[in-house]
Amino acid sequence: MHDALPSASRDLDLDGDTLREECGVFGIFGHPDAAAITALGLHALQHRGQEAAGIVTFDGARFHAERKLGLVGDSFSSREVIERLTGANAIGHVRYSTTGETVMRNVQPLFAELDAGGFAVAHNGNLTNGLTLRRELIREGAICQSTTDTEVILHLLARSRKPRIVERFLDAIRALEGAFALVCLSNKKLIGARDPYGIRPLVIGELDGRYILASETCALDIIGARFVRDVENGEVVVITEGGIESLRPFPAVPERPCVFEYIYFARPDSIVNGKSVYEARKNLGAQLAAESPAEVDVVVPVPDSGVPAAIGYAQAACVPFEMGIIRNHYVGRTFIQPTQSVRELGVRMKHSANRGVIAGKRIVLIDDSLVRGTTSVKIVRMMREAGAKEVHFRIASPPIKHPDFYGIDTPEREKLLAATHDLEAMRAYIGADSLAFLSIDGLYRALGFAGRNAERPQFTDHCFTGEYPTGLTDLGIETPKRLSILAEAD
Ligand code: AMP
Repeated sequence: MHDALPSASRDLDLDGDTLREECGVFGIFGHPDAAAITALGLHALQHRGQEAAGIVTFDGARFHAERKLGLVGDSFSSREVIERLTGANAIGHVRYSTTGETVMRNVQPLFAELDAGGFAVAHNGNLTNGLTLRRELIREGAICQSTTDTEVILHLLARSRKPRIVERFLDAIRALEGAFALVCLSNKKLIGARDPYGIRPLVIGELDGRYILASETCALDIIGARFVRDVENGEVVVITEGGIESLRPFPAVPERPCVFEYIYFARPDSIVNGKSVYEARKNLGAQLAAESPAEVDVVVPVPDSGVPAAIGYAQAACVPFEMGIIRNHYVGRTFIQPTQSVRELGVRMKHSANRGVIAGKRIVLIDDSLVRGTTSVKIVRMMREAGAKEVHFRIASPPIKHPDFYGIDTPEREKLLAATHDLEAMRAYIGADSLAFLSIDGLYRALGFAGRNAERPQFTDHCFTGEYPTGLTDLGIETPKRLSILAEAD
């Protein structure tokens, strides 16, 4: 199915149009199997977005688009769909939105017909001035089709008076604030860009002499592509038949990749900014064991995201590692459920106790992060019901006290357990015998630094510190409802 127009009822259901989202992007230039390869790349990036996926191709004369709700494997495995996506150049996107339904008109890549030709954009990240730009554009007569911040990029591009598409693109991205890893397709070029701090990841790969752009290296591995290098912070790469060109449209600032990619978001087999995510997570666990040991019989991970940190913890503490919780892989990530009650149901559906290794034991549970506390409450109760003698909880990242605006979608401050509870209150809330988090310096040490450089933090770590590297222009303008086409027209 090509794009369906949203129904009137969907248009009114604006809860579906969440602004913050984590996504995965992919692009390939000049390969005869561009669409099929993009589908495979997106499949490897599925953990970054499970609600919708899209591919846009260019065949030398026309652009073709398929955007679908649901998983890549369900939407892009049929030969008919791939065959419709003709052309040697392709970009793709997987999308993850966190509340309500995903509305078709927000599914990326977004596409616009400009006077210079077609242009498609796939965006991972979140703009912190997207609402402000959008309001200005609408005030000046722009007509917006979606409620995503990504659409403003197309409008800015359309308005630039520069003669060439790359110059227009640079004009557009210079107006952006926040986090963006972009993969774009024009009729002659594949363009990749990372925001000045490199908050979200983007890598360059190569397959059969053709260039690829992808959010993570795991998308290169699935197709046997070679990792070339990261797109650097603040860099724009332009891929044409003549090769690859690198541009630097922003004043240089030190890179500050988002630390949450290492903690939770990226796939463990990916290499993000030169660091193995798996090794990083194991080191987080080892550091946690050094900082917060526990007198226990077994180390139990909260699967899957807590597994590498639990291996690191167990090895450092010399305590046996056991899979005391088994995860059902056919349930989506807990966060995807739209309401709190359904989310809780999701947690129960997802994990079950492996009684044999729990009963009568003192256990320490290891999870990568604690956000609302929903998972921890359920898991601790489950461990006690399975006969655990003592249940200790260790979190392989510091307490999340501040909301995210760059696309990892931690919720508003009031819903963050650590923002509203002190350590003892959190322990009591989740019902554990003891609770400890990794320290912020411990986080940096595990990632290969001596500690956090207070003057020049090496990572984007606002969730823990409240220090946001970019301006937050949109803060205070809110709610997604105000964003609606209908509301704006009032
Ligand atoms: P919560 O249950 O709300 O405390 O969330 C913590 C759990 O959600 C942990 O098991 C994490 O692995 C996972 N998690 C952390 N951050 C995110 C995120 N941005 N999106 C989805 N899941 C997350």
